[in-house]
Amino acid sequence: HFENVRVGLGERSYDIVIGSGLLAQAGERIAAVAPGAACAIVTDSNVAALYLPALEDSLKASGLRTTSIVVEPGESSKSLGVFGRVCEEAIAARIERRDVIVALGGGVVGDLSGFVAASLRRGARFIQIPTSLLAQVDSSVGGKTGINSPQGKNLIGAFHQPALVLADVDTLVTLPPRELRAGYAEVVKYGLICDRRFFEWLEADGDAVFHSKPEQICAVAVSCETKARIVANDETEQGDRALLNLGHTFGHAFERLVNYDNARLVHGEGVAIGLALALRFSHRLGLCAGQDAERAERHLASLGLPTRIGEIPGWNFDADAVLNAMYQDKKVEKGALTFVLLRGIGEAFVAKSVDAGEVRRFLLSE
Ligand code: NAD
Ligand code: ZN
Repeated sequence: HFENVRVGLGERSYDIVIGSGLLAQAGERIAAVAPGAACAIVTDSNVAALYLPALEDSLKASGLRTTSIVVEPGESSKSLGVFGRVCEEAIAARIERRDVIVALGGGVVGDLSGFVAASLRRGARFIQIPTSLLAQVDSSVGGKTGINSPQGKNLIGAFHQPALVLADVDTLVTLPPRELRAGYAEVVKYGLICDRRFFEWLEADGDAVFHSKPEQICAVAVSCETKARIVANDETEQGDRALLNLGHTFGHAFERLVNYDNARLVHGEGVAIGLALALRFSHRLGLCAGQDAERAERHLASLGLPTRIGEIPGWNFDADAVLNAMYQDKKVEKGALTFVLLRGIGEAFVAKSVDAGEVRRFLLSE
């Protein structure tokens, strides 16, 4: 059983295929999109040990020439140094513009190798095979690629759309439970942004997304559809694409304050707290019913996600520290904060010029 989501971007439209058993079909499916191409598979050592041989076999069986480039796992691989090494290895493997960079892994591998694809010979073809839930529902869709600089996250990058995304839910069985939960926070985000029925389905069946393939396929497909629709309307984030930042203005501030220490906080956990805060803040501003805020918080907490700032281990920052961290976000303009707020579950909107004093008072009450 496969779901197919078409991302409509004119001539750069592409398919996201979601299902079970896709890794074994990758060769055929890639050959159909890029006949005769050579493939440079970029992956990290965790994912390589689990899934690289199966992917290599599938590509070879379809007559595709392949080379594999393995990086260290973790955010530190989104660096100029690793970027340079991957580019050089791809050039040494004679990857031309018509050839394909294949990302096999989580969001780190996807962002890094997408930026390699965008840069190599001014733009080689790119195919994503996301293996973490976060990458399947978020980072593999939408065309944002890039790496970090010592000054901050994702400061160097490009928009480069993939030619195909293959999300094989079979790979989720080996994903550490904490990573699975973190990805699930982004799934809940889509329900909160614009799909109350999807949120209600998650309330009823969301725990199945943690272990059962049909529900995983459904959750990934609905998430990708929502993201694809928002991105197609606003590819370069002039307007509504900002809705995807729901929960992230707060979440990014927490990640920054703990120095991106994943032992304390991973991205999706920051997002889960950020989502709960966005709802409580909206309620405080008189925009959203308290019941909706409580309901979303209850659902996130029921699956083991944090919803309160105090749940971050060793948290010792005050409201001003959080505000200052928010000002450092490249998407936040000083004085007038842009926030994604909600009128209720499934009714998010972009609020420009939210008063910083209001945010501060809210944080003090948390
Ligand atoms: P990640 O790529 O670091 O993967 C998390 C961990 O899980 C890693 O240790 C990885 O080796 C391991 N892993 C991945 N798949 C596995 C599997 N199937 N089985 C066992 N282990 C597996 O992190 P992530 O959460 O996937 O992605 C986070 C990155 O994504 C961040 O750098 C973030 O900036 C980026 N991101 C990008 C976008 C975008 O639009 N481009 C959106 C959201 C996040
Ligand atoms: Zn996110």
